[in-house]
Order: sequence, then C-alpha cells, then structure tokens
Amino acid sequence: MSSEDRNRKVEVAIVGGGVCGLTCAVALQKAGVSVQLFEAAAAFGEIGAGIGIGPNAVRVLRALGVLDEVLQKCSPGELRPRGFIYHTGVGEHRAVYKTTAEGPEEEGIGMHRAVFLDALVGVVDRSACHFNKRLVSISDSPTNPNRTLLHFLDGTTHEADVVLGADGIKSSVRKFILGGKDDRTAFSNTVAYRGLIPYPKLKAAGFKTELTSSPACFVGPSKHFIVFPIKNDTIINVVAFAARYDIPVGSANLPEGTPWVEEVSKDELKQVYQGWGPDIVAILECMPENPSKWSIHVVHPPLESYTAGRVAVLGDAAHGMLPHLGAGAGQGLEDAYLLSRLLSHPETHIANIEAILQVYSQIRKPRAQAVWELSQLAGRTYDGNGPHREEWDSVGADLDGLFHSVWRHDLDAEFEAALALLRDRGAFSADASPAAFLDALIGEIDPASCHFHKRCVSVAESPSNPKRVLLSFLDGTTHETDVVLGADGIKSSVRKFLVGEGDNRVAFSNTVAYRGLIPYADLKAAGFKINLADHPTCFMGPNKHFIVFPINDTKTINVVAFSARYDIPIGAANLPEGAPWVEIVTRDELKKVYEGWGPDVSTLLDCMPEKPSKWSIHVLYPPLESYTKGRVALLGDAAHGMLPHMGAGAGQGLEDAYMLARLLSHPDTNVENIEAVLQVYSEVRLPRAQMVWDGSVFAGRVYDGTGPHSQDWEKIGEDLSPEKLYKPVWRHDFEAEFAGVVSTLRERGAFTA
Ligand SMILES: Cc1cc2nc3c(=O)[nH]c(=O)nc-3n(C[C@H](O)[C@H](O)[C@H](O)COP(=O)(O)OP(=O)(O)OC[C@H]3O[C@@H](n4cnc5c(N)ncnc54)[C@H](O)[C@@H]3O)c2cc1C
Repeated sequence: MSSEDRNRKVEVAIVGGGVCGLTCAVALQKAGVSVQLFEAAAAFGEIGAGIGIGPNAVRVLRALGVLDEVLQKCSPGELRPRGFIYHTGVGEHRAVYKTTAEGPEEEGIGMHRAVFLDALVGVVDRSACHFNKRLVSISDSPTNPNRTLLHFLDGTTHEADVVLGADGIKSSVRKFILGGKDDRTAFSNTVAYRGLIPYPKLKAAGFKTELTSSPACFVGPSKHFIVFPIKNDTIINVVAFAARYDIPVGSANLPEGTPWVEEVSKDELKQVYQGWGPDIVAILECMPENPSKWSIHVVHPPLESYTAGRVAVLGDAAHGMLPHLGAGAGQGLEDAYLLSRLLSHPETHIANIEAILQVYSQIRKPRAQAVWELSQLAGRTYDGNGPHREEWDSVGADLDGLFHSVWRHDLDAEFEAALALLRDRGAFSADASPAAFLDALIGEIDPASCHFHKRCVSVAESPSNPKRVLLSFLDGTTHETDVVLGADGIKSSVRKFLVGEGDNRVAFSNTVAYRGLIPYADLKAAGFKINLADHPTCFMGPNKHFIVFPINDTKTINVVAFSARYDIPIGAANLPEGAPWVEIVTRDELKKVYEGWGPDVSTLLDCMPEKPSKWSIHVLYPPLESYTKGRVALLGDAAHGMLPHMGAGAGQGLEDAYMLARLLSHPDTNVENIEAVLQVYSEVRLPRAQMVWDGSVFAGRVYDGTGPHSQDWEKIGEDLSPEKLYKPVWRHDFEAEFAGVVSTLRERGAFTA
C-alpha cells in the first residue's frame, strides 16, 4: 500500500437507502466520514405501514442526535412504553399477558414508516445521495487493488474504499459476500396481511379493545394479529399473520418469479380468520378492500460472516428476520451505529479497513442472530406453537424477557468490545489502551472459567438457599454461587444490589478529555521542541492541562488534553439521559478550547488527528457507604471510579483484587464467615481508595491552576509535593494492610485467634 493511500481519508459507499442505509449515511456524515449513498429507486420511499422503534433503536437515534427530528415528525411526538397486551383472538378477547417496560429507558415509538424515513431524509446531506442507481455487481478497482468498484444498471460505476450493503432482504451485496453461490433468501412460511384503518371507523364497527395505552396482539392457533395506533391515534395499523409450522423455514420456497407482495381481496382475509372473535370480525370488516399480502422472507441459513474484504452488509441484507418482536430495523440501526463509530475512529485508515469490518461482523453477527431466533420463538408462541402450546393463560411464561433482551442492549459496551478486539489484533494501537496489560493477564487465566456474552442484569439471594447468591444474565441464564465480586466498572450493575435500583452514584466530573495519537516524527517536523522521549510531559494552564507521552517504541505520541469546569460541583450537572460518554469531535473544536496556549501546544493541536475523541469523564460520587452487602462485594471502578489525574484508578482496583484474593484463599475463610470477611475488606479498602480518589481531584485542580497556589505556576511544586501526593499512593504497604485485616477478623471471632 502506497504511503499516499495509507494517509488518504476513507471513502464509504452505501448501497440502499431504506431506513438502515439512511441511518448509516446520517451517522457517518455526522461523524465526518466521506460517504455516498446509492438507491435503486427514483426517490427515498417507504410502504404505507407502521413501524415500531424499540428502546435500543431509540438509543441509536439519540446517540446520532436525530431523535428529536424523528419525534417532531411523529404524533404523538413522545416516547411510550413498547411491547404488547396479549389477548386471545378466538372467542371472547381475554387479556392473558402484558409486556413489562421498566421506566423511560424502555420506551419507544410507533410511527408511520414514511414519516420515519422522512425524518432521516431531513438530516442527510442530499448532495451525497444518488437515485436510479441499482447495483448489479461489485469488482476490485482495475487501477487500485485497495479500492472496490460498484457497477450500476445504468452503466455507471463508482469507486470507494469501503462498500456497505444496506440493500434489504434481496441484497445484491450479500450475493457478492457469498461469492455468488447462493443468496440465503428463504420463505418463512409466514404471510402478513397489512392495512391501515381510521380509528373512528373501527370503533363504529364495534371494536372494543383499548389500543392507545399499549399495542395489542391477538393470539390464536397458527395465526395472530398485531394492532397499534399511529398518527396521533387516528389511524390503526393492522398486520395479520398466518403461518405454517409443519414446513421448516427455507424448505419450500415460492416458485421463481412469484411476487412477495400482492394485493388480495378482503374476502381472502375473512376466510383465513373465519371463526375468530368479535374485535377481529370488526377489523376484517374495516380493512381496505384490497389489503396487501406479504410472503415474509428471511435470511436463512445465517451468513458465516457479514463481510468479505472491504465490503460488508447491514440491516435486512445481513439478517432479515421475522417481524414478531418488531426488532428488524432496530438491529440494522445497531449495525449502523457500530459501523459509524468504527469507521470514524481516529485510528481507522485505509490499511486496517478489512480488520475493522471483520470485527464489526464478529460482534454484530451473534447479537443479530440471537434476535433473529427470539423473533421466531415469539411468533411460534403467539401462534400456539411455543413451549406452552395453546395454553393461552400460560404464554406469558414463554414471552417473559424476550423483548427485554432486545431492548436492553448496551451499544457502548459493544463498541468497547470491538475496540478491544482491534487492539488485540494490532489493527489499533495496543499501547494506547489497557489491552496489552489485559493480554498478559489473559495468558495466565484458565479460559474454562471465563464466560462471555453474559451481561449481568440482576443479583439476588438464591431462592433455594439464603446463603447463596443468584446472578441473572441478559440471555436468560443464571449462575448460583457463594460470593459475588462486582468488577463491572463505573456503570456497574452489581452495585445496584448494594445501593438500590434508583441510586447509581454515577456523576459527571465536569471534566472532558480529548484524545489522539500523533506520529512523533510528524510532531518534530512541525517544530515541536520539548524532548518527549525522556519523560512524560504535562502542560498546565487555567482550567486545562495536556498530558503528552510516547508509546509504541517512542514512534507515537499519546495526547490527552483535559478541560474542566470548577464552578459546578461534581454530579451537580449530569449529562442528559442517553448522551454518549465518548464522541468524535473536530480538531477545530479542540483548537478553540486551547486558543492562546504556547507554541508547543499549538504545534500539538495542528498535528492532532482531524477527528479526535472527546471523553466526558464520569466518577463514582457520592462515595459508597460500604463496598459490600451480604455475600456481594465490589472492586475497581465499580467501587471507586475516580478522575485519572494521578494515573491511579486501575492500581486501586488491583489492590482491591489482591486483598480479596488473599482473604478468600485464607484457610480460616468459609461459607459461614464470608460476610464478616467482606465486611472487613470494605472497612479497610474504602478509606484507602477514597484517599486516592480525593488526591486525584486535588492533582487535577493543581494542574488547572485551582489548587492552593492557584496560577502561581512556579510554586505549584509545593502543592504537588511527592511526599504529600504521590508517595502515599505508590508506597502503600499492602502486606501490612492484609495483616491488619486478619487481626481484625481474629478480634471479631471470625478467624481463629
Ligand atoms: C410485516 C413487517 C413488520 C415489521 N415491523 C417492524 C417493526 O415494527 N420494527 C422494526 O424494527 N422492524 C420491523 N420490520 C422489519 C423492518 O421492516 C426491516 O428490518 C427494515 O425495513 C429493513 O431495512 P433495510 O434498510 O435493511 O432494508 P429495506 O427497507 O428493504 O431497504 C433496502 C433499500 O435498498 C434499495 N435496494 C435494493 N436493492 C438495491 C440495489 N441492487 N441497488 C441499490 N439499491 C437497492 C431498496 O430500493 C431499498 O430502498 C417489519 C417487517 C415486516 C415484514
């Protein structure tokens, strides 16, 4: 790869302008990535039907800064709890189950598809959108093997570094990824009749079930009806499903050329639902004369990978699924979010694109496939084919938790996992992260005792043994044990067991950090004077400071530029709900923040990547009263997340871990005295870590000219005196700490005297 290629800005082409392609285009444009979108139709357009945007998809829209646009377009312009009230469809309409939504985090939107698309069209840069561009094939560029050439039906071509196929279930891009062998499109043996009905007309026809508080699902043998209001509750969206469960998905595809969507007569629909209850009769009466009938196709068997070379698929092109959890588009939005975060990362360049798309696929495929399978299970359950068959009063047990595992997905954790993989593989710089350190530990641990894709959602006493603790995971599995140690970071779920659901102690520190990597040679060539090879350097100034040190064998300079507000107490002005903690900003923003600083800092700013990341630093505040409750204890950031100004946060977690390991392996420790042991752990570790927490706040204040000597820079050495500040952190005697804990346990009779 030529050096010219290596330094070039990555150019992305998106094929397909449905909801997923458009979301991806908006996300990339907002992140400053160069992107062009190619749509087969003459204009953006969606079918006349409703769409449900679940809480996970809402979080994507919020993170992309387009949620307000979407809410403004739809009526009512507000979030509402998602999920359904399930009623029996045959005979009287008995409510048998209601999906629970817990608080605003589990709210979503029900809206007209065209309106949703419109909102996205309103924010996309139209000059990058090209219509009547039906992709027919993909090849390598004849002039540059690192580029890909798209060929369109009209004979034109377009060259790009990355191609993202968001061209729906019939995807041409997927065919390219599969090497043209097969296309994995399978008939699901499910058809859906769809129509929109004015709500007053439906009520006048005798429809009784309440629809405005929650969408309704009428369940029955092999069929179900989804009914929910859109357009300010004036229109009712109806989707009536009928399925065959005797034929496996994909084993009886429709004859070649059969249309997937056709208009049918209302009489056909009435025939299918003959014998259903009075509200269904009313709906059938009011349906348009010629409702549309959709033969629903899915991607099956699942793809082995979402990517080949510099080409990847997202949305239905990657994982078209049954619509029974209203989650298909949401999965595409999650894809778009991860792709945009990765492709706009400051370390992304032409040379590591393939590795990035591999990681995208590795992370997204298991998640989307899990939702694919849950959607199928949900449909079976609605149709009396789930674990409880047609025992309608028990279907709630089969449905419990299905929606939650779709909704409660942690997008930021997914992004962090992708970064860790990229660092592990050397595609992103390892030195800039704890990954290299982590690698050394991974070499020592028994992999058989490590379990992945296990997001802890709750911690409770075991129902069968009060001396055991039960962990519940997002995938519905559980694990019972004697002691639980929560090392789940600043956003800890385990901490909720100690402090209660509503009290998470996560506070914005009013400090942000801009981060970037600069080749040292570039920095020197630009006139940077201070020799960084010998010593990490901290540039100090009013309310801001710059930490600059070499990594990667002194070839790269790691820059962390802090900017703080000291007029707002910690935790007094938290970020709005859902605001991302890490975002990509422009170098110009950074330059503005440090306007007027000296020549070396201004050289640094000139050399920073065009899109540095900005971290809103959160800390644990107010401090916990204890690190333990019962048989559960916390360590690391989950216990004492702190400001990074002494580089001491992980060190405190390591000290916690050492103490816990010594105590739990002590010969006197047993299941009876475990609570007393954890109690003393907390009594000793809490004041120590809190002292370091306070010291870190103090160090930041000194660097920013708000310490005891304010901006009297010549004297701040007195404030930073190693004796007072650093040595107590570095010279901690943890053997003495351990001996103290053991003697306390003996005094209390927990250990033998
Ligand atoms: C009955 C039903 C109800 C549903 N309800 C929900 C719901 O409530 N919530 C939810 O999240 N999901 C729902 N879904 C799923 C959701 O509709 C899809 O997941 C989503 O629309 C997929 O979006 P997409 O952008 O990937 O594909 P599409 O919307 O299919 O867009 C693909 C785009 O690519 C263009 N294109 C195709 N081929 C080419 C080509 N060769 N060259 C250029 N352009 C091309 C097309 O013209 C189109 O604009 C439902 C699905 C069904 C069938």
